Amino acid sequence: MDFELSKEQKDIAMAAKEFAEGEFPDRAEEFDRDETFDESLHKKAAELGFVGTFIEEEYGGPGMGMLEYCLIFEEFSAVDPGIAVAILISSYGAEIVQEFGTEEQKRRYLPPIASGEAIMGSAFTEPDAGSDLASATGTTAVREGDEYVINGSKMFITNGDRANYLICFVVTDPDNANRHRRHSMIMVETDREGFEASHLIGKLGIRASDTAELAFNNVRVPCSNMVGDPGNGFIEAMHLFNLDRIIVAAQAVGTARGALEESIRHVKKRVAFGAPLSSFQSIQFKIADMFTWIQAGRSLVHEAAWRVDAGTIDPKLIAAAKSFCGQMSVRCCDMALQMHGGYGYLAEYKVQRLFRDAKITEIYEGTTEIEKLIIARNLLR
Ligand SMILES: Cc1cc2nc3c(=O)[nH]c(=O)nc-3n(C[C@H](O)[C@H](O)[C@H](O)COP(=O)(O)OP(=O)(O)OC[C@H]3O[C@@H](n4cnc5c(N)ncnc54)[C@H](O)[C@@H]3O)c2cc1C
Repeated sequence: MDFELSKEQKDIAMAAKEFAEGEFPDRAEEFDRDETFDESLHKKAAELGFVGTFIEEEYGGPGMGMLEYCLIFEEFSAVDPGIAVAILISSYGAEIVQEFGTEEQKRRYLPPIASGEAIMGSAFTEPDAGSDLASATGTTAVREGDEYVINGSKMFITNGDRANYLICFVVTDPDNANRHRRHSMIMVETDREGFEASHLIGKLGIRASDTAELAFNNVRVPCSNMVGDPGNGFIEAMHLFNLDRIIVAAQAVGTARGALEESIRHVKKRVAFGAPLSSFQSIQFKIADMFTWIQAGRSLVHEAAWRVDAGTIDPKLIAAAKSFCGQMSVRCCDMALQMHGGYGYLAEYKVQRLFRDAKITEIYEGTTEIEKLIIARNLLR
């Protein structure tokens, strides 16, 4: 067993840290306040090889492993989780194309994602279907000749209003007795007639990241847009969730680390009762707890990622990483805000933003409760 990252992995993490620290701080407050983003930042990150890192070299990506992706996500999130998501989740769903797509689909969709020319998103959640995707999904794709006709709506879709391609979870076989064989994943180019995206405003956090509600009114796509076999959608969705839950856990670790770093700076400077806050034991305990929990979370993330890179997807370990890191991050950001006192309550202090940003890691890609159900089901069956 070797806990040391390779030299190449350390270099990747250092390059990500330098890029984030150089580019994000000047824009983070503005993006958060205005709920906006500057696409030139995404392009710059793509030019440096930070986008679609898992895309194999023959399809234009650097072909890195899951562990490298996690290292980059942690470094970006430690500086600003919203910008991290806007940049790194621009390839969300390309994992499905790479694993289940045809050669033609891989050549069409993957190179522009890796180069930053195009953005992808994945649409599962609906106004009435979130945690219970298998039973409650209502968006349908009905075959008519050489085309599928899509009708329905999707909710909370990251990149929904900026993506060129959205890979969508749709019902294709509603009467199948096996509810896990009723769905398919189908690619929708967002310039198709009948497709509409409405950018959602007023999010609590990660406000640099676009989240949208989608409407599909008789959207026609060729049958060649089906990614994977018809009826295989649930399996493809689980493949994506298992990979991206590790990424969200890395995001949570980075967010918590950002909060710890801010806190250390603050408590060494701020004086109360004639001494720096850092001299008080209750402050020291908070710093020590945060460090310990972050380290524990990172270990879970790295093990889950390392196992994926070694060829094993362990849903129970991945769910443990996601549920622990989400809760840990929310708790750490709460403690960081507490150590900042009234200043932490102000928008101009980064810990306020991190406190708001952390919460999403308990919600998307499977809520904390759903992750716990996965762990328990695996242990108790
Ligand atoms: C900013 C943002 C970005 C997102 N991006 C995307 C995206 O790109 N693509 C996408 O498809 N979706 C996306 N989502 C949606 C997200 O994945 C869902 O919100 C999430 O899965 C929860 O679904 P829900 O909101 O319908 O909550 P619900 O499923 O209604 O759950 C509500 C509460 O009930 C709990 N609950 C539900 N079922 C159970 C149960 N069986 N046992 C115990 N507790 C239960 C949940 O844990 C939760 O606490 C995004 C959401 C947000 C906020």
